[in-house]
Amino acid sequence: MTKEEARLRIDELCDKLNFYSYKYYVENESPVSDRDYDMLQRELKELEEAFPEFLRPDSPTVRVGGIAENTFEPVTFEVRLESLQDAFSFDEIDDFDRRISEAVSGYSYVVEPKIDGLSVNLEYKNGIFVRGATRGDGNVGEDITENLRTVRSIPLKLLKDVDITVRGEVYMSSAVFSEMVKKQETAGEAPFKNPRNAAAGSLRQKNPAVTAERKLDIFVFNVQKYEGSEFSDHKNSLDFLRSLGFVTVPFYTPCKNIEEAKKELERIGDMRSSLGFDIDGAVIKVNDFSHRRTLGSTAKFPRWAVAYKYPPEEKDTVLRDIEISVGRTGVLTPTAVFDSVLLAGSTVSRATLHNEGRINEFALAIGDTVTVRKAGDIIPEVVGVKLRSGNEPFRYPDTCPSCNAKVFRDEGEAAYRCTNPECPAQILRLMIHFCSRNAMDIEGLGEAILEVFAQRGMIKDIADIYCLKAEDIAVIEGMGEKSALNILSAIERSKENDLSRLIFALGINHIGEKAAKLLASHFGTLEKTASATREELLEIDGFGSIMAEAVTEYFSLPQTKNLIERLISYGLNTKSLTEITDKRFEGMTFVLTGALSKFTRDEASAVIEKFGGKTSSSVSKKTTIVLAGEDAGSKLRKATELGIRIINEEEFSDMIS
Ligand code: NAD
Repeated sequence: MTKEEARLRIDELCDKLNFYSYKYYVENESPVSDRDYDMLQRELKELEEAFPEFLRPDSPTVRVGGIAENTFEPVTFEVRLESLQDAFSFDEIDDFDRRISEAVSGYSYVVEPKIDGLSVNLEYKNGIFVRGATRGDGNVGEDITENLRTVRSIPLKLLKDVDITVRGEVYMSSAVFSEMVKKQETAGEAPFKNPRNAAAGSLRQKNPAVTAERKLDIFVFNVQKYEGSEFSDHKNSLDFLRSLGFVTVPFYTPCKNIEEAKKELERIGDMRSSLGFDIDGAVIKVNDFSHRRTLGSTAKFPRWAVAYKYPPEEKDTVLRDIEISVGRTGVLTPTAVFDSVLLAGSTVSRATLHNEGRINEFALAIGDTVTVRKAGDIIPEVVGVKLRSGNEPFRYPDTCPSCNAKVFRDEGEAAYRCTNPECPAQILRLMIHFCSRNAMDIEGLGEAILEVFAQRGMIKDIADIYCLKAEDIAVIEGMGEKSALNILSAIERSKENDLSRLIFALGINHIGEKAAKLLASHFGTLEKTASATREELLEIDGFGSIMAEAVTEYFSLPQTKNLIERLISYGLNTKSLTEITDKRFEGMTFVLTGALSKFTRDEASAVIEKFGGKTSSSVSKKTTIVLAGEDAGSKLRKATELGIRIINEEEFSDMIS
């Protein structure tokens, strides 16, 4: 690799990982699996070691991941909340042990599960819980005391009147998680993706009553600050925490040497799926505090601890069926159905097969023993065949399983597609999308009830939703008059939605939420959007030819014209409600970079859009202004190279005041 290639790759990895971290810590989303994130971070670290001159100050390898936002009051920590170095193999564990042995002698270890939740700092004065905070960037976190008070396993009063600061991991148990997801699915809401994401979202709620409903728990795993002399090693400190009334990590096993520690890693790994909570590894820690002091810390993590990350768990099971479902745009998706297995904390019996390529690649046949795992410990997938049954390999259908129409291969998407516009499966998926939270947000109209309406012939397309009658809904099992009236009032409310929601809800190919907003703000009305030409659409910054063609094609279809006429006749709003009166940023494109302290990125973007401006994620000649926060990196450099105006938060505040 040349120097220039290394510089470019380092820049690319830094930007990518910082973006993923932002999504993960601020928006509680996982854009990639943890494994993929860790592997990219590893690549970056190796490149930075080989080319230290390109190490960026905002590199994720030198910063503790989280971000202290300004939603809650900041809390500055007396003792830093550090991160942990990772190891992905026993060879790396041996390297860790070698480094320890070079610095201290007569040491031993403690091994604990690494709970996959959120790190918090808890302060007690005279035995009373006085303040709790998120980890933030390790130095400054957010004050979430009121939310933490709702976590029942956090003692509000200790068994002794001591001043102590501890660190723990707040998590959602597997049982609570399954219960929450079931409730969300029944209510037609988007379910939490995994327990960590659920715990993170619940802890940073503005209203503590919402946090309380989520039934979070805590495991305390460290004494951050304590003046007494009851203990001088980690094991005894955890025993002490127990005697104060804390729930500590469920097991912390003393190990005389690294061989014993590795055995404990294996033991925890074997128990992984039956713990009742998610772990993303196990931590080996040097036990004696005097040894820890000698070893010290790097800028990011202590040298005396290492987190061993387990490879994704795999299980073998028998394939019983391959179901083909039809999506909103007609794409056929195969799902493997197999004997249920316990995998990474939950029971699974279905897994995606992505497309027919996977079926052919494995030459799958019903009855085969297949290996399944959870990608990123979230979505189950089939990764191979363990034992062939000898049955005929599965043949992909050439007709739609819903309407029997012939299916066509869409080379662009490497998938089969049913192109029958009247296909009931596609219409149902479209209706589910139409009613979903980010689209028309019709509460109570989730997948299950829409399916019943469709089966009973009550709705044949999305416009029929606006013709539903209370008496027809009330007679459905599990409904009743009250639910029927609630649904009708949610439908009525949806008529007032902004145009951008309606456009997104129509489910036009390639038109997501952001593109729908652009269309609504550019054209102002549905009528104008529907009659826009390809050239007019291409004038919108951010629109390419695929999107423009998808829009013109959609609105040229006779059935679309008919649908729109009906929606208008039922009184749906077809105007953009976010009319821009103050257009001070009209025609300007902003790029936000670095850590902002006065605004969240969403807030800054909302203000820019309110004044008629746009935001973009990358710097180009089209960029008007770069708003740079702390530790801005490659985008700032690129803006300087291109001579683009760069402003700080103060200047931005002046511009919007
Ligand atoms: P880390 O892996 O650096 O580990 C430190 C954390 O472990 C601490 O904050 C602590 O709270 C927790 N922990 C749990 N049990 C513990 C115990 N017994 N002892 C000590 N610590 C314990 O964690 P991090 O910095 O919070 O997260 C980094 C990881 O997050 C990455 O390695 C990656 O896997 C994941 N991540 C994923 C994405 C994504 O898009 N999927 C993005 C960013 C980060």
